[in-house]
Amino acid sequence: MRRPEDPFKNHVVSRETLAAQALGWIDPETRAVIPPIHPGVTTERNRDLTYSRGTGYMRGTPESCVQAEALLARLEGGENALLYASGMAGIAAVFRTLEPGDHVVALRDLFRGTLKWIQSNLIPWGVEVDFVANSNVDDLARAFRPGKTRMVYLETPSNPTFEIVDLTAAVGVVRDSGAWVVVDNTVPTPVLTRPIEMGADIVVHSATKYLNGHSDVLAGAVVFGNDSGSLHARMLEQRHLEGAILGPFEAWLLLRGMRTLYLRVRRAADSARQIAEFLDGHPGVRQVLYPGLPGHPGHAVAKRQMDGGFGGLLAFRLADQQSAAALQGSLELIKRATSLGGVESLVEPTLDNAWRIVPVPLDLVRLSVGIEDPDDLVADLGQALDSI
Ligand SMILES: *Cc1c(COP(=O)(O)O)cnc(C)c1O
Repeated sequence: MRRPEDPFKNHVVSRETLAAQALGWIDPETRAVIPPIHPGVTTERNRDLTYSRGTGYMRGTPESCVQAEALLARLEGGENALLYASGMAGIAAVFRTLEPGDHVVALRDLFRGTLKWIQSNLIPWGVEVDFVANSNVDDLARAFRPGKTRMVYLETPSNPTFEIVDLTAAVGVVRDSGAWVVVDNTVPTPVLTRPIEMGADIVVHSATKYLNGHSDVLAGAVVFGNDSGSLHARMLEQRHLEGAILGPFEAWLLLRGMRTLYLRVRRAADSARQIAEFLDGHPGVRQVLYPGLPGHPGHAVAKRQMDGGFGGLLAFRLADQQSAAALQGSLELIKRATSLGGVESLVEPTLDNAWRIVPVPLDLVRLSVGIEDPDDLVADLGQALDSI
């Protein structure tokens, strides 16, 4: 696949600059600073029946994805990236590179959709999976079987209980064994954590969340580190065959969203810390789960491996499930909606614990902090807490 020329390849600029200018590309036709949208599914062959670029057919060569893929690869410190129709499409595609009989070590507190997919698809297909405690790398080391374990699947901070995995220590367990270390980096984003720089092989994203950031695109991404070229080639081929690609309009919106990624994530992280401190001091709140609080068990590790903030997500526990429901029902500003990582703040209840390895407390409320004025968000939570 042909990539546009990277105008920054000989300049040292920060990732924030790369994101703001979406790698600085100018449309060669019009000199527009924003790329066009090409909905064309097919492109014409030359007179000698070759293609000037790619295969000419969108399922194999989604040209509209290459700019967002190249930008995300740069932000994550990877070599390549592939966009998918959703986060789950990308995650499932990573797992489907395994064979029956292979062994996987996965954290026990992961995004619920991933846990469900592992248990309802991967395990029945014949892949053996051991689930281990997120915050205890010794547990991971005990479950790891050199020569047999093909993949270690991590997520930090985990969603929705915000446990922290020490990525450097986890990579240390796997090193030189030939197993792939895969990290779901949806929650911290490359703004706050870059797992490939810590030795991970693959990063996966629900680009639906912070990367796009505006709750208007469903998208996924897989980023490949320096030594995972063979996996990239295989997954590119598989995506061509299966077609779980991102459409041109969505890819265009995603690239636009990524231009403001650094502003949005930093703002959300600053506000989340302020809100966590407010909730932590409130008598109606039993516990706040946020790695930015000094009392959080993963705080020291998070401080070391997260760059400039602890993320825009947090959870808090109330007296019981009824109080958690009443609080959410009393919110005036914060929206009661699933998902995370958008410009608007959202709360989500714990609905049930199906497919969870460790149950999430039913009195827990998860909050995805947006980019609104944090004082307004604190005031909304304050009035809701006072009303229950
Ligand atoms: C939402 C989410 C996913 C799944 O992504 P979709 O785009 O909804 O398919 C995966 N991992 C995490 C951490 C998520 O929050």
